[in-house]
Amino acid sequence: MPLTIKRATKYGFCSGVRIADLKVKRFTAKGGRGAILGQVVHNERVVEEMEKLGVRTVHALEEVSEPVIVFSAHGVPPSTHEAARDMGLEILDTTCKFVYDIHRESRKALAEGAHLVFIGDPSHREVIGYTHDLDPSAYHILHSAEQAEAVDWRAYRAIRVFYQTTLNADQYNGVVNVIEAANPRTSRADTVCYATKENQEAARALARDPEVQMVLVIGGKHSANTRHLHEICSQFKPSYLIQGDSDIDVAWLQGVSVVGITAGASTPDYVVDEVERFLKAL
Ligand code: SF4
Repeated sequence: MPLTIKRATKYGFCSGVRIADLKVKRFTAKGGRGAILGQVVHNERVVEEMEKLGVRTVHALEEVSEPVIVFSAHGVPPSTHEAARDMGLEILDTTCKFVYDIHRESRKALAEGAHLVFIGDPSHREVIGYTHDLDPSAYHILHSAEQAEAVDWRAYRAIRVFYQTTLNADQYNGVVNVIEAANPRTSRADTVCYATKENQEAARALARDPEVQMVLVIGGKHSANTRHLHEICSQFKPSYLIQGDSDIDVAWLQGVSVVGITAGASTPDYVVDEVERFLKAL
C-alpha cells in the first residue's frame, strides 16, 4: 500500500527568513559581493545556495574581504554594527523585525531599572546579540529551573523576562515560576514569535492526529526552532529530525502507512517537496 503523507497545516519558512533570503538574493542579482556573518538562517541548504550565489559564510568580521557584510536574521550585538562601520564595510542587515523588538524592549526595561532575564541558549547568535554589549551584572541567561534556583532574585527592584524567539515557552514555565515566586515584581514579555507558535501548534496537532503513525521534522541541524518541533512531536509519536530525504532510514517506515511531515522556520519549501517525493516513490 502506498504511504499517505500528511503535512502540518503550518510549517517551514517564516516571514523573517523569507525576507532575509529575498534581501540577499536581490543583492546578488544586482551583482553585489558580500560575506554573511554566521549562517544567514540555520539551514545548510540555504547556506549552500547563498555560497553558489557568491555570498560566503564567515565567522568573524576580520575574515571579510568583500565590500559588504550581511547580518543574519538572528541579529548581532550593536557593537558589531559599529565595528563593521569602523572597518569601512557596508552593512546589509537582514535581522528579523521580531529580534529587533527584543533588542529595543530589553534596552527600555534596563533603562527603567529592571534586571533582565533571557530564557534561551547562551551560545545562540540571537541571545548573544541581546547580551554581548551589556554589563554582566545586568542580566541572566537561563534555560533550567536549577539555574533559576541558584540566584537570589529578591535583590532586584524589578525583573523583566524575555524569551528567545524560537523557544517552546511552555517548556520554560517552571524556570520563570521560580523567579516569580521569589520576586513578585517580575514580568514576562511574550517574545516567542508568531511563526514559532503557529508551527509548534500545527506540529502538535499533526503528531496528535490518530491516523499519523510517525513524524518527520525537516530542518537544519543547528536550527533551534526545528529542534523544538522535534521535541513536541516526540511527545506523541515516533519522530525523526532530518535535513533532507537522504537522512531517511527506510527501516523507520516498517509497518507505517501514514507519515506526518513538518519543517522548521528556516527550511525552504523545495526541501519539504523533495522529502514528500522520496516517500511517495518508496
Ligand atoms: S522564526 Fe520568528 S523571529 Fe525568527 S526569523 Fe522567523 S519570524 Fe523572525
